[in-house]
Amino acid sequence: MANVLYDSLFAAHRDNSKDFLRQPGQPSRSYSAFIKQAAQIANALSELGLQPGDRVAVQVNKSCEALALYAACIQSGCIFLPLNTAYTAREVSYFVTDAEPSLIVCDESYSDQLSDVAKKANAALLTLSSDGSGTLMELTTTQANTFPTVERNGEDVAAILYTSGTTGRSKGAMLTHTNLLSNSQTLLTYWQFSSADVLLHALPIYHTHGLFVACNIMLLAGGTMIFLPGFKTEEVLAELPNATTLMGVPTFYTRLLADPRLNRNLVDHMRLFISGSAPLLAETHEVFEQRTGQRILERYGMTETNMNTSNPYDGERKAGTVGFALPGVEIKIRDPQSGAEMNTGDIGVLEVRGPNVFSGYWRMPEKTAEELKEDGFFITGDLAKKDADGYIQIVGRDKDLIISGGFNIYPKELELLLDDQDNVLESAVVAAPHPDFGEGIVAFLVAENDKTIDIERIQEFMSDSLANFKRPKIYRVISELPRNTMGKVQKNALRDQVKEVFAT
Ligand code: AMP
Repeated sequence: MANVLYDSLFAAHRDNSKDFLRQPGQPSRSYSAFIKQAAQIANALSELGLQPGDRVAVQVNKSCEALALYAACIQSGCIFLPLNTAYTAREVSYFVTDAEPSLIVCDESYSDQLSDVAKKANAALLTLSSDGSGTLMELTTTQANTFPTVERNGEDVAAILYTSGTTGRSKGAMLTHTNLLSNSQTLLTYWQFSSADVLLHALPIYHTHGLFVACNIMLLAGGTMIFLPGFKTEEVLAELPNATTLMGVPTFYTRLLADPRLNRNLVDHMRLFISGSAPLLAETHEVFEQRTGQRILERYGMTETNMNTSNPYDGERKAGTVGFALPGVEIKIRDPQSGAEMNTGDIGVLEVRGPNVFSGYWRMPEKTAEELKEDGFFITGDLAKKDADGYIQIVGRDKDLIISGGFNIYPKELELLLDDQDNVLESAVVAAPHPDFGEGIVAFLVAENDKTIDIERIQEFMSDSLANFKRPKIYRVISELPRNTMGKVQKNALRDQVKEVFAT
């Protein structure tokens, strides 16, 4: 019997005694121990009465056991539904009402808050803490370490991941066995992963980056992961000598650069640094290369589509770009009104088609039809353009587009100029409601360490460089940009701060 994802990712490792997961200060977990533990969990799920297709909602801290729960869900045909650990009980309640899981697994410390949520939803509630303790693992101790793998074909849903939902309700993206497998196979080859690789894993595992990109590739490659609970500069610096590759969000790289111990000697042996999930500033790319001699490889993807584009492994990794469409993935940059493809250098909405693209939003056929077109192209909502060499640049989200006095303004164009100003570390440009223009532009600036930003000089520079309608009307200096755990700037939080600034 076949189970598309389980057979490729997990089955082959049953007798593999090699280290799969290393955690500093703790015993390593071999592939075989991991696979056996996953089978024990699968037996426990089955004993609880879970059936193939049932959802298992998981809000736990990162641990080997949490990853084994993912494997157990795949093996038993259940749908894995990881949730960001930052969500409150009220938010989890929405996901539970929407997804109707049969089981919720949470950290011991959240179980009181979630017990009502589980009761209302008629779901079982088990706990799993980051040290592997809790009621879930208690149920596994007497279970057999083999499990009859449930048949699943390529179109069956393996996981549901909720999108961050910054503009309205969060949507559950249904990812099939084929979506996940095809993407990790493509990336394995494209980025030349092999069993010799040791991946330094400091990402969360409730998100597509840390879970599917990182873990699925390493399972396919048969490599080893150094599994850190999260990103701490100290720990990452200490483990870099033991790794061959690092996958990170841009903030990993800026934090590493802020530490003088990051140097060429420390990372000379590294094969690959990858960045994604948020834009890596061209400057970070360049400074990282000057300091280490390594060129970060930037790629682009999203929850609904897995990975879509990547800079080349061999060949020019161009700073400020996300490279080319991955093999088997088609990308079109279109005019959102006419649907016509944009010319080189012109900005449009990026659409993507391929085996990586999800099958739809859970119980939202209308939303699915709006964004996933009949011809198979998914409208990502990302604004992008291609340069003369075909490299794709992401210039923002279409919802971030500012329309002031009827003119379109791309925040990225302004942010690139602002980032280059003296003493400016970074910037974010948003719109606030304006009585005359519809929207007025507000620029948030963060200063470099202890330095002062000369707003007047910046205003002069912007006046010389940009048409009047594109110039920020208000500048605000703040200590840091609000970011989520994946390093994405939370523009909604900034918009909230200034929603009344132009009120008359
Ligand atoms: P998520 O679904 O949380 O993975 O977020 C996906 C979104 O993150 C994309 O639609 C992009 O807006 C953004 N994103 C991911 N990778 C990159 C990148 N390399 N550069 C710029 N934006 C990115």
